[in-house]
Parts: sequence; structure tokens; C-alpha cells
Amino acid sequence: MIVFGVGSTRKEIGRGKIRTTCIKCQEPTNINIFIIQRYAHAYWIPFFPSGKKIISECTNCEHLLEKKNFPEKYLNGYKEIKSGIRTPIWMYTGLGIIGLILIAIFASREQKYSENTELILSPQKGDIYEVRLPDEQYTIYKVDKVEGNTVYFFENEYMTDRLSGVEELSQKPFTTESYPVMKTDLKVMLENHEIMDIERPE
Ligand SMILES: [Zn+2]
Repeated sequence: MIVFGVGSTRKEIGRGKIRTTCIKCQEPTNINIFIIQRYAHAYWIPFFPSGKKIISECTNCEHLLEKKNFPEKYLNGYKEIKSGIRTPIWMYTGLGIIGLILIAIFASREQKYSENTELILSPQKGDIYEVRLPDEQYTIYKVDKVEGNTVYFFENEYMTDRLSGVEELSQKPFTTESYPVMKTDLKVMLENHEIMDIERPE
């Protein structure tokens, strides 16, 4: 699958020089070592770093070598150069953004949950409860009256298999008789996600 705007690119994140004899031209010379970091990006946002590529280049004969073919003396030089080099933090931008979004979603769910808990503890006539039934069916209950720790509900006579269809049910008929539920049971239903949401008419 090809996704437009998603891919991987590379950037040099460090370089250094070692003074040694080139394995190709055998001249005592400077060997450049390049540290190149590959990173994934999506829509031009760097997402996360992946592999590194290490290349040496003889300044005399321009011979190039990949790290897997480095002789011992190149490797030792590379180790010293690499100790001062870190993967830049901006390469993690995409992961950071996703982390922030997840935190925001989590916080807003927590907020909704605590609002719903308050509504359950102080029910009012007319409150609408979105309820999940077995077999992924949804319906709504409407508060008829409150007596002490007991809440009386009219149940909607219809149900829907789509959570998004729940709002339309408020136009459908409810039972004419209301049924009692203990507040403590309502709280358990909220914890078990059987109560999906609670709306209080303005
Ligand atoms: Zn050379």
C-alpha cells in the first residue's frame, strides 16, 4: 500500500575525522566519518527515528566504506565520534503529537465520567440515560421521578444497533409505567459502561 506523504528520509546528524592510513590508497590521511540518521515521516512531520547509516570517506582517494566493512582503526575512531552525537529530539515530533492527543482523549473521558457520576448522584426528572443492552443494542431511559435512593425510569420502547442512532430514540414512545432502579446500581452500570452517557435537558 502506498500512502501519500508517508515515508522515510535521512539526515546527517554528525561527522568527525580520524587520522589514519586509508585501507584503499594506503596513504596516511584524514578519513571523514558521517553519521546519518534515517527517520520516518508523515505529511512532512518527522515521526520517529529508525536506523543509522555510518559511512567513511577517504579525503585522499574518496573511497567510501559502510560501517559493516570498517577495519578496527576506523571503528575505534567512529566510537569516539559517536559518543558526542545524539538523535535529535525533533525526529520524535510525530510520536510526541500522538502522545499529547492520547492524553487529551483520556482526560476528556475522565471528565465525562466524573460529570456522569455527579448526574447519577443527583438525578432529576427528565434526565436521559443512554444505555447499552446485551448484543450491542442501545436504548434510552428517561427519569420519571426520584424517591430517596431510588430512581424511576421510563424505558424507550425502541432500540438501535448504532450508538449514533440513540439520539433519534428520544422522539419514539417510552413505556407508560416507570421502573425503579437503585442509585448504587446505576453507579455500577456506569462503571461497567452499560450506561454510556447521561444528558440533562437545559
Ligand atoms: Zn584513500
